[in-house]
Amino acid sequence: MLLATDLDGTFLGGETEQRHHLYQLIAAHPEIQLVFVTGRGLESVMPLLSDPAIPKPDYIISDVGGTVVHGDTLQPVHEVQGPIEEKWPGEYAIVEALQGFPGLTRQDVPQERRCSYFCDEDAVTSEVFAMAEQLGCDVLYSAGLYLDFLPRGVNKGSTLTALMNHLGIDAKDVLVAGDTLNDLAMYEQEFVGVCVGYSEKGLLEATEGQAKVLHASEPGCGGILEAFSHFGFLGEAGIEAEIGEAAEPGKSDLVIVYHRLPYEEYVENGKMKRRRPTSPNGIIPTLMSFFADGKPGSWIAWSVHDPKLGAFETHTTVDREKYPNLVAARVGLSKRDVDIFYKKFSKEAFWPTLHTFWERASFREDHWEVFLKVNRLFAERAAEEAAEGATVWVHDYNLWMVPAYLREIRPDVKIAFFHHTYFPSADVFNVLPWRRDIVGSLLQCDYIGFHIPRQSENFVDVARGVAPIKVLKKENCAPRFLSYGCAVGLEEMTTDIEVHGRHIRLGAHPVGLDMKRVTSALDDNDIQQLMARLRQELAGVKLVLSVERLDYTKGILEKLQAFERLLDEYPELRGKVTLVTVCVPAAKEMTIYNKLQNQIEQAVGRINGRFASIGWTPVQFFFRAVPFEHLVAYYAMADVMWITPLRDGLNLVAKEYVATQGLTDGRGVLVLSEFAGAAAELKGAVLCNPHDPFELMSSCHHALTMHESEARSRLREAYDIVRHYDIGFWGQCFLDSVNEAYQPEEDDTVVRIA
Ligand code: UDP
Repeated sequence: MLLATDLDGTFLGGETEQRHHLYQLIAAHPEIQLVFVTGRGLESVMPLLSDPAIPKPDYIISDVGGTVVHGDTLQPVHEVQGPIEEKWPGEYAIVEALQGFPGLTRQDVPQERRCSYFCDEDAVTSEVFAMAEQLGCDVLYSAGLYLDFLPRGVNKGSTLTALMNHLGIDAKDVLVAGDTLNDLAMYEQEFVGVCVGYSEKGLLEATEGQAKVLHASEPGCGGILEAFSHFGFLGEAGIEAEIGEAAEPGKSDLVIVYHRLPYEEYVENGKMKRRRPTSPNGIIPTLMSFFADGKPGSWIAWSVHDPKLGAFETHTTVDREKYPNLVAARVGLSKRDVDIFYKKFSKEAFWPTLHTFWERASFREDHWEVFLKVNRLFAERAAEEAAEGATVWVHDYNLWMVPAYLREIRPDVKIAFFHHTYFPSADVFNVLPWRRDIVGSLLQCDYIGFHIPRQSENFVDVARGVAPIKVLKKENCAPRFLSYGCAVGLEEMTTDIEVHGRHIRLGAHPVGLDMKRVTSALDDNDIQQLMARLRQELAGVKLVLSVERLDYTKGILEKLQAFERLLDEYPELRGKVTLVTVCVPAAKEMTIYNKLQNQIEQAVGRINGRFASIGWTPVQFFFRAVPFEHLVAYYAMADVMWITPLRDGLNLVAKEYVATQGLTDGRGVLVLSEFAGAAAELKGAVLCNPHDPFELMSSCHHALTMHESEARSRLREAYDIVRHYDIGFWGQCFLDSVNEAYQPEEDDTVVRIA
């Protein structure tokens, strides 16, 4: 069984529901082979291949029959394309021969083994035909506008027949579908066919009265469905019985799809127990706050399914008192799948690439398969939970493929995606072997948020390399964000795009802080005692603080080297400045960090060995996670916060420092890498380029020697921003943007197919 179909107006046409129905039917029937037979050039077919809503073809015949390739590899079916190639005089022979002919305008679209012009009917003279004859070409003139030169005897029908012969497929098992005159050649073969509703008059007239050609009444996919029934294409069962029951909507108006549960699970005495999350930031409580007042909702996250612990609970309550109608919908994964999907693959393939360290990335197809499997499970669970028209908010790159699967099952829901990490430029992102699938999935969203405009614009640029994009709206980035003042600044960002007739909005939403967490840490007696103790210990010594996870993106080694240079070049600082570094180790499965850890430990040993004196250790290195409250004590005591990632999505530590100093009337100076997302937002910070060893050192020196009044005014500026754009603002602003109704302009012809 093989469906050979024209694209525009046929397989891509018709009512949204009928398109969805046909595409699902094909997906549910792997025995149906699919061939796209199109007038487009192959390059113009490629964007469709990254759209997860459209079934993947087994073969593509493009250029009105001039090109024939395998659907998966896009390599030529040489046995069929070879003879076509032999008949083709070459593009330049035709262009040169037609140079003197009046009224012909070359079409600037990608094409091969075919040469197309625009022209009026009176330009298609007998001389044009004579020249075609001389060149050994066929001429095809259609719709009173398009003039095509093709290799002699080549058209959609001849190439399809040649392909069927090559594959050994019987003509009676082939259904052809089209809507314009350039499809006619397909009906002149042995195949059965359908001219979909509203087909071009010429095509209908030419196929009139042929028993094996159905003139359908429904346009596009609807017409193809009619033909399936008419010719009994799917046997007795027909088309209705063939697709599974549509997913029953759930009850949740808001579904959060996050890799982590809103509580922490642990096993004690062979029993699964739970405790409050030791979440490093305020995101989880903020997301939960949307379920206050008894709003029904679901939180989807993975949980290790260990059969030794008994039956797996798919649904659990989160906090019966505060959020009575919020359920955690757990996706049960084996420990192996979690390790691959989350700890290995995401960290080894995606994390380095996203942070522009693509040369460190390693790509494994078998890990990608696990990634897809896990993402599908998340999407299926989201589809079960979401009420009709619900908002499903998906978080971060671990769940990149969820929108693709979810859109297929639940076309009605509003899909929102927030990207928590950096998003690199196309030059870097395109290194990912699965970039088309990933971008195709993200383009199923209604709204996509990033921390800062630069990341969002990078995404638009990446998407532009995958599918044709129409920019519908751009917005100024100032005054909220820096334009030219840092490496990740931007003057203007795209906020509305249209892709494949679908409308997607974009926004910049830097994650903010939960100020209450900082305040309550500062009010805590124990923390106040710790601060007093630190004050005593640090008497006469300035504290430069650095806090980060062990990661090459954080530039820890480069910072240590800069500190060594600082002590070398400014000997007067010896004994007067201490660098305290809190470095959170990576999970032991993340073996890619082992080498970096050794290098850091060596650097610390070397610096301390070179400079330490009785009573003064230049670098105090804590290689462990410090509780947030304790960090706040260090923030309060630090004269300089030295945060110099080589690349960072945002950097919350920078904000925590500013908040703590602001709340304690401090005068600390934040030195921040201009490659951290927060740099585009935190005016008042001393920015530095961490890739420049001199500036890395000199900015720290500048901060250490800064006049108090300048330090205070810089801090005030940054503190105002941190206080105003807190985590509550982030969450609410994101959801408000998602829910903002799309208002089409009067003349806006955008069609929403999702
Ligand atoms: N953090 C912590 N203990 C530590 C080190 C860090 O609780 O020992 C927290 C820190 O307070 C911050 C988060 O970890 O909230 C790190 O977030 P950031 O955005 O700076 O970096 P990421 O790790 O997300 O790249």
